[in-house]
Amino acid sequence: MRICGFNKTTLLDYPGKVASTIFLGGCNFRCPFCQNSVLVLEPGQQPDYSQEEILAFLKKRKGILDGVCVSGGEPTLAKKLEEFLHKIKELGYEIKLDTNGSRPEIVRKLAEEGLIDKVAMDIKACLDNYSVLTGVSDPDMDKICETVDMLIHGNLNLDYEFRTTVVRELHTQKDFEEIAEWLKGAKEYYLQAYKDSEGVLKPGFTSYTLEELKGFQQILQQTISSVGIRGID
Ligand code: SF4
Repeated sequence: MRICGFNKTTLLDYPGKVASTIFLGGCNFRCPFCQNSVLVLEPGQQPDYSQEEILAFLKKRKGILDGVCVSGGEPTLAKKLEEFLHKIKELGYEIKLDTNGSRPEIVRKLAEEGLIDKVAMDIKACLDNYSVLTGVSDPDMDKICETVDMLIHGNLNLDYEFRTTVVRELHTQKDFEEIAEWLKGAKEYYLQAYKDSEGVLKPGFTSYTLEELKGFQQILQQTISSVGIRGID
């Protein structure tokens, strides 16, 4: 497991908590709009924080911080993730896992062992647009759907949210009509406006306007209890 990034304090990554965020290197997708491309393409060239260093910081900040967000890359690919989360839990922190949903068996195991409290799962696109949005020709959609189903219906005593980074050049209204059907009954979903940045895997994409995002929001609200918009004023 390579810890390539560590944000000591964030109010954004774990909603409702003052948290630290840990970024693990490596990913099985190549989403063209990925903002953390160096973690995906060159994890070996990135900083390598020791677990001891992170744990010592978290121990010292107990009482000031109340959550830890584990992000990436794709954290469920990391070897020894479970052991690391055990150590964070022993310090008394709540843990949020960010995932692309490709490894439902890992999410289930972590949830059953009480090692995660919340999952934020990316919904890249509607089902038939996944290969374009993930940048891999044959993503395992059975696994993705299994994670979605587990979060909505799995009785795992796990808080969750779904979220989509919305890119003008890659999504159309059809995506959101189909996502609304796919995620029917979900409790929380966010449309995240795409933002261009230096770290993006394929630069040059743009965002929809707030008005356009509100149009997608209305479609999703027909089947999902709470639909928010992030990243745009
Ligand atoms: S956006 Fe997430 S799933 Fe996609 S390549 Fe980047 S880290 Fe991987």
